[in-house]
Amino acid sequence: MIIGILALQGDFIEHAKMLEQIAIKAMEVRLPAELDKIAGLIIPGGESTTMLKLMHGFDLVEPIRRFAARRLPIWGTCAGMICLANNVHNTDATPMETLGLMDITVKRNAFGRQVDSFETSLDISTLGDDPFPGVFIRAPYLEKTGEEVETLATLPDGRIVAARQGNLLATSFHPELTADTRLHRYFCRISS
Ligand code: GLN
Repeated sequence: MIIGILALQGDFIEHAKMLEQIAIKAMEVRLPAELDKIAGLIIPGGESTTMLKLMHGFDLVEPIRRFAARRLPIWGTCAGMICLANNVHNTDATPMETLGLMDITVKRNAFGRQVDSFETSLDISTLGDDPFPGVFIRAPYLEKTGEEVETLATLPDGRIVAARQGNLLATSFHPELTADTRLHRYFCRISS
């Protein structure tokens, strides 16, 4: 099984390193045809406006939508989660044409500015009892989730920061910047 990582912008190399640690083959994806070679796709953190511009420019939007329509798994982390959303509550009011795959409303830059980045432990019961290290960097959160969306993690104040809808997974935070490989393993199980 090969997992693809969208490698247009953002921290795709860190995801590749995580997959390497759990002995899963990773492939950088930049061209539509490369989607035919992978069992699951990770859309990394970075800057969602830039990433979407490049996805449109590289003609990847429709091929990624078809990939999802084949029920193949996609995981968006942080900016990647914004790309998956069918609705974005944008703090600077810029309209964004996302992939529109997941029935979620995402609030962008929801915790304030860069200095408001933070780390906190999260309870993610699907991963077991040990808390998961949540690294939030100018993170979005899930303001609203549709009926088919399962919440996987919330902050103590109830804000949703991880969710799954069938084969689609979204996390506000960055597991690829930690030593905890459990979410990568979880995504690989969905993909296999
Ligand atoms: N603030 C970024 C955005 O809106 C996301 C930040 C990240 O991926 N760490 O796209």
